Amino acid sequence: MMNSQPNLERAVEALRACLELVVFTGAGISAESGIATYRDKLTGLWAQYQPEALETAKTFKENPALIWGWYLWRRAQFARAEPNAAHFAINRLASPTRKVAIVTQNIDDLHERSGSLDVIHLHGSLTTPKCFACHRPADLTAEQLVTPPTGGPVEPPRCKRCNGKMRPAIVWYGEDLPHGAWKSASSKVKACDVLISVGTSGVVMPAAELPKIALSSGATVIHVNTQDVALGEPNELLLLGRATETLSMLANLI
Ligand SMILES: [Zn+2]
Repeated sequence: MMNSQPNLERAVEALRACLELVVFTGAGISAESGIATYRDKLTGLWAQYQPEALETAKTFKENPALIWGWYLWRRAQFARAEPNAAHFAINRLASPTRKVAIVTQNIDDLHERSGSLDVIHLHGSLTTPKCFACHRPADLTAEQLVTPPTGGPVEPPRCKRCNGKMRPAIVWYGEDLPHGAWKSASSKVKACDVLISVGTSGVVMPAAELPKIALSSGATVIHVNTQDVALGEPNELLLLGRATETLSMLANLI
């Protein structure tokens, strides 16, 4: 399906005039780097599990080695993925007069690896694990983070402070978003002139509130998505298509 020209022109116009830009990203942008989404079925070793079952504190308490093994396996998968043209195009949207902040639902570090400095991870990040008991970030050696060639369950290392078990520092089902991350994301969104929402499903709460917060604060919201996720507000522009193509085009046009 073609993008309607008026929407593209309005998006370019809004971005040219924009001083504070927030780019809000979801699974769609990482998918173009080959990272499977939560809604995809697991493959290989992990095919017998539902992703939902591997993302809860309850499962961790019952079987920490299973969850730590899964964590190491995913880290290894993510390390093989590379930032794509969409990640790099976001950096090109910045200018001496236009600040760009990134708010992401993704737990990979592809934005950081593309050179973005201002990234808020609403659902945590796979980069640095934390202690299940005292929540302090882990101080682990590279060896402790290597996936054994056989894969499968691995006993989690212990916290040096409290001897608690290490867990991934991501938001599991039923857990709240990190308070600081949500607070700074929503304040940036309230203050922005334009929010570009890239590859977000619009169903994961409370992250899905961010485009609504931007709209009610008077910002223009540009949706870059392969599906129509617009809410039907006058200040919304939908650019249908892949993130890599659409964001590269926007970066070139402004
Ligand atoms: Zn601890």
